[in-house]
Amino acid sequence: MLKIDHLTKTYGEKKAVDDLSLHIHPGEIFGFIGHNGAGKTTTLKACCGILRFDSGDILVDGVSIREQPLACKQKIAYIPDNPDLYEFLTGIQYLNFIGDIYKVPVREREERIARYSEALELKDDLGQKINAYSHGMKQKLAVISALIHTPRLLMMDEPFVGLDPKAAHTLKEIMRDFCEQGGAIFFSTHVLEVAEKLCDKVAIIRGGRLVIAGDTETVRGDTSLEEVFLELEDEHA
Ligand code: ATP
Repeated sequence: MLKIDHLTKTYGEKKAVDDLSLHIHPGEIFGFIGHNGAGKTTTLKACCGILRFDSGDILVDGVSIREQPLACKQKIAYIPDNPDLYEFLTGIQYLNFIGDIYKVPVREREERIARYSEALELKDDLGQKINAYSHGMKQKLAVISALIHTPRLLMMDEPFVGLDPKAAHTLKEIMRDFCEQGGAIFFSTHVLEVAEKLCDKVAIIRGGRLVIAGDTETVRGDTSLEEVFLELEDEHA
């Protein structure tokens, strides 16, 4: 579903991502872990086609995001760590705007908006302007908007930050459901307990380079992801 092939991205002299290769298959929840500044956001943005990269390639369902960005973007959704929404719109206006962009038939989008806004308890707030939303409410709106066009690949940057425990629980259910229906999820997180419980696979990067990747159980071994992460940090410090 998503193939990152020898991705390298530099900002001036700084190599933010260095020869990174990863493969995310349909049905997988894939967690992306790394210290602050490790290169997670850079990788996610490159995978969404919103950040050019120096070398390597990124394929969505076998199609290069470099060569056919529009075809790829029809299949993906991205939720950034700080969703930049159009604050002057109401929640429902924003969702309909996204539905229009992706040409989602009205009946289908209404059904999805109702389902996800009820699950995330945002339904009663959809008539309010986004500038009156809290951070968590904006995060919920971004989640709903990401699911309107039924993407095949969902990418998220720190999706649990700002969500209350119930919303976080609901999001995990939505993520599992999404993958059970054949979608794939690639997301970054610093919450290693969540990654350990939720992810089929994880990858840890440090200084833009892949340190370890594989099945969560294999990477964790007899310890915990937290211990593995801290040990690897010490080894590579
Ligand atoms: P965090 O966990 O703090 O969100 P991250 O793993 O997402 O970190 P990135 O945001 O990808 O890390 O940053 C990787 C490196 O690239 C960092 O050293 C950062 O300073 C640098 N960087 C990111 N964006 C830019 C930019 N626009 N210009 C210059 N350097 C950048």
